[in-house]
Amino acid sequence: MKTKLLTSDELAEAAKLLSGSSLVGIPTETVYGLGANGLNPVAVGAIFEAKGRPQDNPLILHIPEVSWLARYCQEIPETAYRLAERFWPGPLTMILKCKERTPEELEELRSGPVCSYSHFGPRVIPDEVTAGLDTVGMRCPAHPLCRAVIQAAGVPIAAPSGNTSGKPSPTTAAHMLADMDGKIPAILDGGPCAVGVESTIVDLTCTPPRLLRPGGVTLEQLREVLGEVEVDPAVTRQMEAGEKPRAPGMKYRHYAPKAPVIVVKGDPAQAAAYIRSHVSHTRWDGVICFEEFVPLFAEEERPVLSLGPAADTAEQARRVFDALRTMDGTDVKRIWAQCPDDSGIGFAVSNRLDKAAGFQIVEV
Ligand code: AMP
Ligand code: MG
Repeated sequence: MKTKLLTSDELAEAAKLLSGSSLVGIPTETVYGLGANGLNPVAVGAIFEAKGRPQDNPLILHIPEVSWLARYCQEIPETAYRLAERFWPGPLTMILKCKERTPEELEELRSGPVCSYSHFGPRVIPDEVTAGLDTVGMRCPAHPLCRAVIQAAGVPIAAPSGNTSGKPSPTTAAHMLADMDGKIPAILDGGPCAVGVESTIVDLTCTPPRLLRPGGVTLEQLREVLGEVEVDPAVTRQMEAGEKPRAPGMKYRHYAPKAPVIVVKGDPAQAAAYIRSHVSHTRWDGVICFEEFVPLFAEEERPVLSLGPAADTAEQARRVFDALRTMDGTDVKRIWAQCPDDSGIGFAVSNRLDKAAGFQIVEV
């Protein structure tokens, strides 16, 4: 199969593929997603195959407007609507109770006509999306092309990030093509992603609400709306053997380039000095550092990539996956990476780098 790159003029073609059972790469403001009709178990199953994704890692369901929430969720707390009012459309995923079918609805479905992708499960969302959980992750993305294609398809779109499982997420259509060429019919090109890291995930089915993944909406912003928010331990440390993560996806290796990564945290100048004194003087050691320190590492042949200015965490979020991917295009055997502190969107950047490094972290 040849993977087509579609432009915004070809949105109708992308919507047609999506409303059937085909996979389409979709632009969002966070990262590119691998989208499928979220009501079609066959289409959703193909996502796992194309990505090599473990079956027990659930997907996020993308909707074009908040009014669709009640179609797929039940017992929606009032806090969900407050969050939606403030942050949707935008980079926030809420974990909510999935809508159950009544016995009468199930009976009616089972005795009615069978369409090509009918699913007769006890919940309105197929288990392929939720990995059999009784909860579902819901997001209304801000990218105009993304919302338009979901509206045109007329169905909620299940989508994980559009990378091969375990690899850095794609923030351009070209990145996604590199991973998915030949595996899916099309990618809708919506330009580079404005946020650059995946959505914030907050679980609203527990008290207090719990942050499962830091992202474009910051923890500070969530607390302004929700008051107390707990941070799941898996966000800041490696899960231990036998430990059961609250979110299934948390136990898997993530965002990792081919070469091992060592993250160096602390005062930016001190962290740069630490890397300077430990990096080898060969092309086998790559460096990802803040803009200010690039000259410190400029040496013939060594790959050095800027994460953006030390104070500009939004720019760092836009660049982090591109930097990790670019290192994959070199023959480095080790990557040293500077990292912002955990405030604002810096928390999302440091979480992705921590995971890419398998929590191999040096604090200076
Ligand atoms: P990605 O595959 O990169 O889009 O990530 C989707 C994330 O959402 C994964 O980490 C999933 O584990 C998480 N997720 C999706 N649905 C749920 C859910 N019902 N409960 C907890 N986490 C979820
Ligand atoms: Mg992902």
